[in-house]
Order: sequence, then structure tokens, then C-alpha cells
Amino acid sequence: MEIREFQQLMHDLYFENDKKRGRLGNFIWLVSEIGELARVLRDGNEEKIKEEVADVFAWLASLANVLNIDLEEVVKKKYPGKCPRCKNNPCKCNFRL
Ligand SMILES: [Mg+2]
Ligand SMILES: [Zn+2]
Repeated sequence: MEIREFQQLMHDLYFENDKKRGRLGNFIWLVSEIGELARVLRDGNEEKIKEEVADVFAWLASLANVLNIDLEEVVKKKYPGKCPRCKNNPCKCNFRL
């Protein structure tokens, strides 16, 4: 499944409610799921960590849907196979430090 297909799936499943919740409401849910990920990183097992990583990605897709942003398009634009700052792959400028 491509990123775009996953985002479309989230749209098909949840867009009605995501739209009603609005951008701030969806952002709050995303942050809440990041909090759950933090908790399982501290206390959880591998399976729980995988589930929470999936939730974070799903809520990011929901937020992008409400913002009418194509996730696949924007990540490919920002990260076109090389570091956005030094243009190397792998990065040589420590952009993510
Ligand atoms: Mg969760
Ligand atoms: Zn770099």
C-alpha cells in the first residue's frame, strides 16, 4: 500500500467524523496518540509499540485529510530521495541532529 492509498483509506473510513472534528480537534487526537506512543515506549512491548506507531500515522493521515494535504506529495517534495538541506543521501550535514 502506498502512502496515498493509506490516506484514502483513512478518508473512506473516517472523513465524515474527521471533518466535523476539524483541524484542531484532529491535531489534539494526533498529539494524544503520540502520548500513547510515549507511554508504550516506556512500559510496553513490541506489539503495543507497533500499534501506537500505526495510530500516530493514521491520525497524521486524518489531519492531512482535513487540511486537504496529500501526504505522499508533500513528503516526496520535501524529501526527494536526499537530505533537504545538504542534498546528500545519506545526509552529511547532520540536519536531523
Ligand atoms: Mg493509540
Ligand atoms: Zn543533510
